[in-house]
Amino acid sequence: MSVQEILLLVIKASYLVAATLFLLGLQRMASPRTARSGIQWAGVGMVLATLVTFFIPGLQNIALMVVALALGTVLAWVSGKKVAITDMPQMVALYNGLGGGSAAAIGAVELLRWSAAGQATTQTAAVLAVLGALIGSVALSGSIIAWAKLDGRMDKRYSFPGMQLFNAAVFLAAVVLGGMVVHSLGVPQIAAFFVVALALGVLMTLPIGGADMPVVISLYNALTGLAVAFEGYVLGNEALIIAGTMVGAAGMLLTRLMAKAMNRSIKSVLFSNFGATGEAAEITGSQKPIDAADVAAMMAYAERVVIVPGYGMAVAQAQHKIWELSQRLIERGVKVRFAIHPVAGRMPGHMNVLLAEAGVPYDLIVDMDDVNPEFRNTDVSLVIGANDVVNPVARTDPASPIYGMPILDVVESKNAIVIKRGKGKGFAGIENALFYADNTRMLYGDGAEMASALVSELKALDGGH
Ligand code: NDP
Repeated sequence: MSVQEILLLVIKASYLVAATLFLLGLQRMASPRTARSGIQWAGVGMVLATLVTFFIPGLQNIALMVVALALGTVLAWVSGKKVAITDMPQMVALYNGLGGGSAAAIGAVELLRWSAAGQATTQTAAVLAVLGALIGSVALSGSIIAWAKLDGRMDKRYSFPGMQLFNAAVFLAAVVLGGMVVHSLGVPQIAAFFVVALALGVLMTLPIGGADMPVVISLYNALTGLAVAFEGYVLGNEALIIAGTMVGAAGMLLTRLMAKAMNRSIKSVLFSNFGATGEAAEITGSQKPIDAADVAAMMAYAERVVIVPGYGMAVAQAQHKIWELSQRLIERGVKVRFAIHPVAGRMPGHMNVLLAEAGVPYDLIVDMDDVNPEFRNTDVSLVIGANDVVNPVARTDPASPIYGMPILDVVESKNAIVIKRGKGKGFAGIENALFYADNTRMLYGDGAEMASALVSELKALDGGH
């Protein structure tokens, strides 16, 4: 065996080790207890795969690779340190899109190289390079639009009459151009193909908004994985094939789970708007304020309390105070549960992460389907910073943009208390009928401040202990 052959063998073996680390890391991410170490395992795998790549015989442009790596590392480190937890979904959307973009870039480089050489390595490689480039480009431009929407830089939804037909035509054009690229490897065809593929991602994402955003972000994540796997085949790189397939499969599973939780099919997320677009029914009545002392008394003498956290709890970082409040209630003999909606907050599992950070035991946390039948026997539901996920119009008003989205049935509880700063709307930008219901009272203020106030009032009730 020559030295070069041994080197290649070591590189391939290292890729296998890296892939195993990805797998084990992913497995550890299944439980909040081991998730942190799961990220570390996968990270070690990634560092290993990156390092051994430098030893591939005949590698060119090493200086460029080092510069790109250094730039990427610094940018990711700084932005990762700086990002607020509430801005995490935008960051995930953006980074994920960049993964798709990298796969598309690999496709572009290979296609241009084959174009200069006059032929592709194999026909299969050419087809997969084009497929990976198409999917990667859609994931890149689509994720950038998703980022702009989540970051509030863009209107939630944008569409024009006949858009679906237009999008179908653009998709067809991308496929035809892709076929022409495989056939001719001409530079003009390659350029046109990429322009159309990028436009497709933008056009597909523009009309999607509101409650469909989590599903779409997860779908682009899965597509990025698929694109990476295809380009991994083109490069003959096992680490990319395995990692891409894993991301693709895990992303697809997550997309299906999220779509199911939202009562939607993936087809309807992509090709039709959530709910209807007509005039939403007017909500009558008024919002009735209450003060912290009254809320504390209601909860102190309740038998069952359900706490419903939402995006506002993340903004206020109120999870620690809310847990302190719950512990006081539990000490008084109140049965306390936390109700989790699958898309509460701004990323899958957002509320679970916050509650775990505050130390809430897992057996007090209940999923939507299990907790919904319990609301009618609940004395007090305390909604903290949740809005869309408890909006009953999703059940009652067919003209509402969130019609059909499953919700937590807080409105059925004997008393509902809602903590929020004022009359601000939720992500979907609509009025909430729960806030006007007869059995609802509004405790206006910042989530953390109100939770502290409730703790103090409870303390006073307990004689200052
Ligand atoms: P919403 O975004 O519907 O509502 C949040 C509420 O929190 C607002 O009405 C706001 O009212 C209040 N709030 C904000 N800051 C504070 C604060 N400091 N203290 C107290 N209250 C505050 O949240 P939900 O969790 O109910 O719903 C999530 C929405 O996000 C859904 O529409 C979902 O589809 C969407 N989404 C979810 C993703 C996911 O993966 N989970 C990803 C992308 C979107 P006010 O201003 O009056 O205080």
